[in-house]
Amino acid sequence: PFDVLVVGAGPAGVSSAIYAARKSVRTGVAAGRIGGQVLDTMAIENFISVPYTEGPKFAAALEQHASDYEIDIMDSQQAVRLEPATQPGDLHTLVLENDATLKGRTVILATGARWRPIGVPGEQEYRNKGVTYCPHCDGPLFRGKPVAVIGGGNSGVEAAIDLAGIVSHVTLLELGDTLRADEVLQRKLRSLTNVDIVLNAKTTEVLGDGTSVTGLTYTDTETGESRRLDVQGVFVQIGLLPNTEWLEGVVELTKHKEIVVDERGATSVPGVFAAGDCTTEPYKQIVTAMGSGATAALSAFDYLVRTSAP
Ligand code: FAD
Repeated sequence: PFDVLVVGAGPAGVSSAIYAARKSVRTGVAAGRIGGQVLDTMAIENFISVPYTEGPKFAAALEQHASDYEIDIMDSQQAVRLEPATQPGDLHTLVLENDATLKGRTVILATGARWRPIGVPGEQEYRNKGVTYCPHCDGPLFRGKPVAVIGGGNSGVEAAIDLAGIVSHVTLLELGDTLRADEVLQRKLRSLTNVDIVLNAKTTEVLGDGTSVTGLTYTDTETGESRRLDVQGVFVQIGLLPNTEWLEGVVELTKHKEIVVDERGATSVPGVFAAGDCTTEPYKQIVTAMGSGATAALSAFDYLVRTSAP
């Protein structure tokens, strides 16, 4: 069995695996793809101390760093079930898609999340060419340009407020007839002079010239009219889906399906920790994912020390 069994090899998983391996405990990683969401990223400009890098390069560096340690990395492995230990100190069992099982004295869940797409023509085609899901990451790329934000919940309204300080103009499109964000955010949003709010707007297509986004079309669901908006960026903010479907009923999840963790990365199950975008960590970034990965690994090590026979 592993002392620390990590599920996921994005920034959080790799960070926790390295921190665990540095304690000379038997460390394994089972993961879909090494690098996680970073593999879908182009420019990364906010990984502190590295002013500029690119997703695939960053993912390769994660893998390279992990390979400096004795970490058993099992790539292309999808976990489908976790059977927690029944007694503290006993082994947890991870069941993989191919029915193989892995055992760990501790488990670190670092399965990340995926952005909910709008699912309209042009969205995939122009991903990273104007269509983006992360205002903290990509906002500065649209400095001085007009953009649209899709989604009027807290994340959409926060994104619009954030972007309004960077871009020339923001149009916020909300499908429903009211914004769903907290009142205080809505008030802030309405105070901004370079933001328009469009309600009852169903986005129908992302438009582009073959290389980058030039606009979008939406239907006014009240009148049925189709409208066009000229923008150079489309920020999709209709939800982040944690990769935790397989953990339902095993560890405590929020209504948004995030794994509930405390400040030490502990979940509701003793010996099971979690880190990164799949958790209640409020900000979903590489640097925060890595930080929480380190925290989870150190907590797992502490748990091993406390539960192993003297
Ligand atoms: P992830 O990166 O999502 O990794 C999850 C890991 O778990 C993967 O290895 C996956 O294969 C694996 N996995 C999932 N389910 C299972 C399962 N059932 N069994 C086994 N393995 C599983 N952040 C920044 O800080 N700066 C940026 O510039 C930036 N740009 C971004 C651009 C894009 C397009 C996207 C999508 C995100 C961007 N982010 C950026 C956010 C950043 O990538 C994430 O916050 C970060 O990758 C989260 O790390 P993580 O390890 O928690 O999860």
